[in-house]
Amino acid sequence: MSETFDVIVIGGGPAGVTAALRARELGATVALVERSELGGTGTNDGCAPTRVLAKAARLMREAQHFDEYGLIGQEPTVDLELLLARVRQTIRSLHEKKQLLFHLQRAGIVAYTGVGQALFADESTVVLAGNVRLQAKKFILCAGGRARHLPIPGAEYALNHSDLWSLTVLPRSVVIIGGAATGCQLASILNAFGVEVWLLERGGGLLDKEDALTSEIMTRSFRHRGMRIHFTWILDLRDRRTGENLYPAFRHAFIDLPQDFEPLQGLLLDPCVNDPDNTHAILSAYLTEYAQCHPQFEVLR
Ligand SMILES: Cc1cc2nc3c(=O)[nH]c(=O)nc-3n(C[C@H](O)[C@H](O)[C@H](O)COP(=O)(O)OP(=O)(O)OC[C@H]3O[C@@H](n4cnc5c(N)ncnc54)[C@H](O)[C@@H]3O)c2cc1C
Repeated sequence: MSETFDVIVIGGGPAGVTAALRARELGATVALVERSELGGTGTNDGCAPTRVLAKAARLMREAQHFDEYGLIGQEPTVDLELLLARVRQTIRSLHEKKQLLFHLQRAGIVAYTGVGQALFADESTVVLAGNVRLQAKKFILCAGGRARHLPIPGAEYALNHSDLWSLTVLPRSVVIIGGAATGCQLASILNAFGVEVWLLERGGGLLDKEDALTSEIMTRSFRHRGMRIHFTWILDLRDRRTGENLYPAFRHAFIDLPQDFEPLQGLLLDPCVNDPDNTHAILSAYLTEYAQCHPQFEVLR
């Protein structure tokens, strides 16, 4: 037995919530399906929690200037457990403030939250956990993105930004791969927390979607703060004791680490290399069987 709607929106982040409200406004019957919590990456896993860390980092940096302003006090240190508790509390208060479920329901949208991955069973049916089946004429996929693991040996040991929220200690040093907005945010925060930061960007500059001056100033400022930044990397990562190349098959893909490279205690790899979307995961079960006969799914892919 399945429920039928004009439109089903998959994903309860900012894009999905906006799409559902607009479709409803235009008169469609609408269901929104979210595998975990409404609010998406921005509220639960990305912008908001990162802003809390950024605020703590800013306070730490400001404390470095106490003496310039006649202030007497010790430089703070990070209590990661308390800081992450603050992150969780901020997320909770955002949920309370936004009341997304209430707004969706008030608009007449049927919201399925915490229902696990929605998967297509055929071109008009999605299946949720518990074999709940929903049908619609149209689907809007707003499934967001996810951090991608790089295709290198050892990538399974690397962390991504979501793993930050369950760290119990700060690493002594990190390698961050990706020098766009998210990579720069995390690099800046961890540097302020006293972590030794290596930032690798395969393009020619940090924030390379911004104008050249912004990119240049960021790079200069990060280097001034002690971060090690490498562009267009070619990695020849060697074990210092044995001289063995750790990634022989991928030499071309990484950075040529300088002589003074210290073995890293904590290695935070590719937190910021995004897969474009989660759409493929939603479609994949269906695609395997039906892609040949339904070319429209190739377009979505
Ligand atoms: C660390 C970090 C910091 C960021 N900081 C900023 C910032 O400062 N400013 C800014 O503008 N942007 C920031 N972003 C980017 C911002 O979070 C995204 O641009 C935004 O969340 C995209 O919204 P969305 O609705 O498209 O996707 P998302 O917010 O990712 O929402 C997608 C939703 O779809 C759900 N979903 C996925 N697959 C399925 C499925 N099969 N079934 C059911 N549900 C599914 C997911 O659970 C998720 O809730 C940051 C991102 C990260 C990772």
